Amino acid sequence: MTSSKPTWLLRGGRVIDPGSGRDEVADVLVRDGNVVAIDADLTATGAEVVDCGGLVVAPGFVDAHVHLRDPGLTHKETVATGTAAAAAGGFTAVCCMPNTDPVLDSVEALAGLAEVVGRDAAVRVHPIAAITRGRAGAEGLDYAALVGAGAVGFSDDGDSTADSLLMRRVLEASVALDRPVMVHCEDRALASGAMHEGYIAAQLGVPSIPPEAEEIILARDIMLARLTGGRLHACHVSTGRGIDLVRQAKADGVRVTAEVMPHHLTMSDAWVAGERTLQNAWEPVGPRPDVIPDPLAKVNPPLRGAADTRALLRALQDGTFDIVATDHAPHTLEEKTSVPFAAAPNGLSGLELALPLMMALVRAGHLTLPTLVDKLSTAPARLLGLKGGRLAPGTAGDVVVFAPEERWTVTPEALRTKSPNTPLLGTEVGGRVCLTLVGGEERYRA
Ligand SMILES: [Zn+2]
Repeated sequence: MTSSKPTWLLRGGRVIDPGSGRDEVADVLVRDGNVVAIDADLTATGAEVVDCGGLVVAPGFVDAHVHLRDPGLTHKETVATGTAAAAAGGFTAVCCMPNTDPVLDSVEALAGLAEVVGRDAAVRVHPIAAITRGRAGAEGLDYAALVGAGAVGFSDDGDSTADSLLMRRVLEASVALDRPVMVHCEDRALASGAMHEGYIAAQLGVPSIPPEAEEIILARDIMLARLTGGRLHACHVSTGRGIDLVRQAKADGVRVTAEVMPHHLTMSDAWVAGERTLQNAWEPVGPRPDVIPDPLAKVNPPLRGAADTRALLRALQDGTFDIVATDHAPHTLEEKTSVPFAAAPNGLSGLELALPLMMALVRAGHLTLPTLVDKLSTAPARLLGLKGGRLAPGTAGDVVVFAPEERWTVTPEALRTKSPNTPLLGTEVGGRVCLTLVGGEERYRA
């Protein structure tokens, strides 16, 4: 019998599978779309042999927080370009946020996306449905129907759901559906500025956003999770006091999980003023920007103070943060740079830069490679109940092979995304994906 899928023999790499605790040099055999063997000195006739000496072989990364911009905003990104960027970043599955046009708030909208995904996607795509109709914050939805149509979670990401009763209702629904409510915590009235409130914003004369704008809503949502027993997932926690709230809530038995973004761990508000040293790793990476304040360092939640980046790193180390996600938020360079800083759209391109930013923390001794793989792959797959996140005989052939130390320069041409909006443009980073397999099929090769 002939198989339609190629056979891969990934030879002699450092095989890391946090789910089983495996961390050893071995060969990995992928056949018919699945991992079939991991052992020393494997052979397989007809296999494509890849020399993985000096490389890491791990379960493909799983990103819980991505903006694919499709449908409706396809000048920024499409399912095709966003998932190509995902594969180039080592991701074999992404969860896409519903702030598209139309909003992913109906069975019909999810079916429309599924059609494009079936045709164009390079990696697995799992939609996150809205919490309220049109993300407008006024009307709840039929959450069971949305799960039936493929939604893996709920979010009004880009905004908080200001109405506490609607938040209570979706958290109540999450109990039976066992799907997380993924909250973007931002008090709109307090968050009218354009960067983190502190010394640097004052120096630059930029209107600013206090950490409390995030922490007030996070505290409310934790209280509602306690009230309902619902599954709360705190998206992109960016402040030290915010993650303290999550730590305490976990200790109290509230069902809350949390994610941190590589940029909030490695960049501070000083990056808006031109700093180009990675926080916590103390790695200078490249040239200062021409324009200050730099719109390429504008993101929501904003890059915070250096003390916040340290508190977030501690929370990643002690397990308070369950996962690392990217909040990949493409905008064209034109959109980012043709207007004054305060008017520039929020967001950073993230899928292809997560591995190098996290590797900087590994090099600095803050994280181990198995922890990096766990937070980028095993833990998010488990949190969202998704295929992937494991590399063991019998698991899906969703695999990333990467060179942990290889240096490369971040340029628009080096990225697969349609929108290279990152303050890392022109910088040199370390950590590069060599090969990405999804279900045993090649989706990226350097
Ligand atoms: Zn958000």
